[in-house]
Amino acid sequence: MKKIAFYDTKPYDKIWFGELNTKYDIEYFESKLNEKTAVLANGFDGVIAFVNDEINAKAIDVLYDGGVKVIAMRCAGYNNVDMKAALNRIRIVRVPAYSPHAVAEHTMALLLTLNRKIHRAYIRTRDFNFSLTGLMGFDLYGKTVGVIGTGKIGKVFIDICKGFGMKVLAYDPYPSDIPDVKYVDLDTLLSESDIISLHCPLTEETKHILDEDAFSKIKHGAVVINTSRGELIDSHALLKALNNETLFGAALDVYEEESDFFFEDFSNTIVKDDTLSLLMSRPNTIITSHQGFFTREAMQKIAEITLQNLDDFFEVRKLQNEVCYRCANL
Ligand code: NAD
Repeated sequence: MKKIAFYDTKPYDKIWFGELNTKYDIEYFESKLNEKTAVLANGFDGVIAFVNDEINAKAIDVLYDGGVKVIAMRCAGYNNVDMKAALNRIRIVRVPAYSPHAVAEHTMALLLTLNRKIHRAYIRTRDFNFSLTGLMGFDLYGKTVGVIGTGKIGKVFIDICKGFGMKVLAYDPYPSDIPDVKYVDLDTLLSESDIISLHCPLTEETKHILDEDAFSKIKHGAVVINTSRGELIDSHALLKALNNETLFGAALDVYEEESDFFFEDFSNTIVKDDTLSLLMSRPNTIITSHQGFFTREAMQKIAEITLQNLDDFFEVRKLQNEVCYRCANL
């Protein structure tokens, strides 16, 4: 049996992998994969990794020297993998799509919660405080949503928004033909949207796509939602926009420095990230811990496709879900 090291394991990860795996000897490690913990995979044939693992060149060297031949990302994004370092040494596969509905529905859940202040109402009524002061929201019907990135998740989110009677503007360098969606340049989207939602990948080009300059162009009173990747937003610039009361609010499922915190319990600790603490303290900011993907359906699909990716590699079939640096030249 091929030996697989599974990093950053949480109890819920084992549900579907445990049920569906019949071919591999999987060892589950709680540690994240990074240059220090890569040594745990010495003697293993493959690795299953996740969004906040730090798979830099040093980690890849250690994995490669230890005999690892494939890294199966159990997620869509692979911005945390040094692709150049892996080239011609370790193959990288991923799960390009598992449930765009899971993330798009979470995006709408965040928007509805933030707008109608459900997070505050829930706490108030538990304390028998039935006052409505400060809880006023706005109708989504007739408002303009600006969607940055109209791939799988962006498209589902657009469908959901249309169901609410919203108008849709979009920005994407590779536009699709989507009925009743008007593609515009980024500045127009920023200045005309009541709600801005990020659904593009993190690349060198999109890093800090919402920076101080972008926030200065955003329509006064707009909502910003990020369920994509934390580094798409410059957190200091976001904090400034919240402090200036430029925004109605912000809802984040991802955060620039999330790898230090997300998926873990810090409730008994003093968290020393002042930006995160300040964002948390704003009544008009909601932060969830990268849980957009977290539905039963998505978790099952992630396990199915990850195991299929490993089968394709070890049974020497074409890797449908391979990502690599200069794939075309291999
Ligand atoms: P996708 O590849 O189907 O779509 C991405 C879209 O972004 C494409 O249409 C692409 O053309 C567009 N794009 C590329 N560069 C752009 C740019 N500079 N400006 C605007 N658009 C640009 O990906 P997807 O499945 O829709 O996922 C989108 C992102 O969602 C992923 O990259 C990932 O970061 C994030 N995600 C988050 C979670 C979560 O749990 N919160 C789960 C899965 C994915």
